Order: sequence, then C-alpha cells, then structure tokens
Amino acid sequence: MAASFQKDSFVGWTRFRHGDFQCTVVTDGPLKMGPPANAFPKADPKEITELLTGAFLPADTMTLNQNLLIVNTGEGLVLFDTGCGVNQSFGKSSFGPDIGRAIWNMRAAGINPEDIDLVAITHAHPDHCWGLVDDDGNRLYPNAKIVISATDYDYWTDLSRILEAPHMKDFFGGAHYNLLAYRDRLIFVEDGKQVVPGITAHAATGHTPGHYIYAIESRDETLIIIGDVSHHEVLLRARTSAQGCRRLHLGRHSDGLRVKTVS
Ligand SMILES: [Zn+2]
Repeated sequence: MAASFQKDSFVGWTRFRHGDFQCTVVTDGPLKMGPPANAFPKADPKEITELLTGAFLPADTMTLNQNLLIVNTGEGLVLFDTGCGVNQSFGKSSFGPDIGRAIWNMRAAGINPEDIDLVAITHAHPDHCWGLVDDDGNRLYPNAKIVISATDYDYWTDLSRILEAPHMKDFFGGAHYNLLAYRDRLIFVEDGKQVVPGITAHAATGHTPGHYIYAIESRDETLIIIGDVSHHEVLLRARTSAQGCRRLHLGRHSDGLRVKTVS
C-alpha cells in the first residue's frame, strides 16, 4: 500500500555530556524577534543587514531558537526555563504557532515531563516561564518543584503592576497564570546557594528585578545558564561586538564561583 509522505522532519533536541552529568537541549521552537536592532541595539544596522543577507537570511526580522536545557545529575532531572508555552491566550498568541514545542521535543528525546524533578527559572519573562501549564491551567510538570527568585516571583505575579505598565499586561498576566499554578511547590533561590548538588544559583539582577543565572559544575567543568542572550548563529560568530547585551565577568574564588554583571 502506498504510504503518505511524512511532513515533519524537524529534529528538536540534542544531547551532550558535562562531567558526570548528561545534558539534553530541547527546542521550544523559533522565537520571532522582529527587527534585528531590537536585539542588537548597539550594532551597526548596515553591517547587520550585510551579514544576514550574506547568509541568505531575511534582514528585516530575526529569528532565534528558543532552547531549553535539561540536566540529568544522576540523582534527578533539572529543567532550566520552560519556553513560551502552549497557552492559546498567552504564548501562542504572542509568539506564533511554531513555539510551544518543548514538551513534544522532550518526549521525542526520551524524557517525560512527569519525570522532571525541578524547574529552575532564570527570570519570569514570557519565553522562560509561560511553558509551565497547559491551555487549561494544568501543570505540565506535575511532579516538579519550581526554583525562582522571590523578587521575580513577587514582581511578575503582581497584577496591580499592569496599571503602571499597561504595555506589559501579558507579561504580568502570563507569569501569574503559570507561576501561581505551582504556588505550593516553590523554592526561592538565594545568591550563591546550591539548588541541588552541582547546581548553584547566582543573582544577576538587571534584565529583570530578580534575574538569576545557574552554574552547573561537575568534574571541574562549569556550564553557566544565563537565560537571555541574543545568540544569533551568524551575527555572533562574525562579530561578537554585535551582541549589545550584558557582558558577564566570571571568576573563581576560594568560596566558589563568582559571577558579576558588568554592563
Ligand atoms: Zn528576558
């Protein structure tokens, strides 16, 4: 019998080793960022256009891959951020129909969302915490605890702030919708404190009031989850100065890893 042609050839995950840990990256889908100047405000627009068109990419709008990391420490599964989510009223309406694939790709990579023990949130912006619940408000990670800073939780779930910043109505509404579903499962991070063995939280306030980054250390290897970097595969390879985003100074001190935002 003639079989119909398959349409989906999208491979949405990859895997690597980090010391004793196994890391899996799954994509939530392409994040449409609009004009490149939004993400690279300090770069020369002419140069950006040349670089993008030289790589046969559109120059008027930029797409970044929205990727999530899952670390298997041997003792548990830790997911960092959740993507834009599947909510029709939030993620899908704000970021288009191609995002919200994290759960699908996770399962394709052999990881069940039900098996995630911890979801470590860097900050409560849409593309980081809107993937916690489904369209009906049900937890997509029913057995996980949520790690987040108290500052970001308090700030972004406070709906009264919509009056001060009506243009960010969905930011507050989406964070409230997703995070309050886990209100009995929250762990508030503290600067320099261990989240689980091998994973430490570090305050990196600036992008949001309570932005945290995470250091994942195993066998003298350190991986830093920053949570928001404009990581375009063409622009940043060609010119790291194009980034126009915060730089981080990393240094190792006797009491552990120090991370300091410098701009
Ligand atoms: Zn952000």
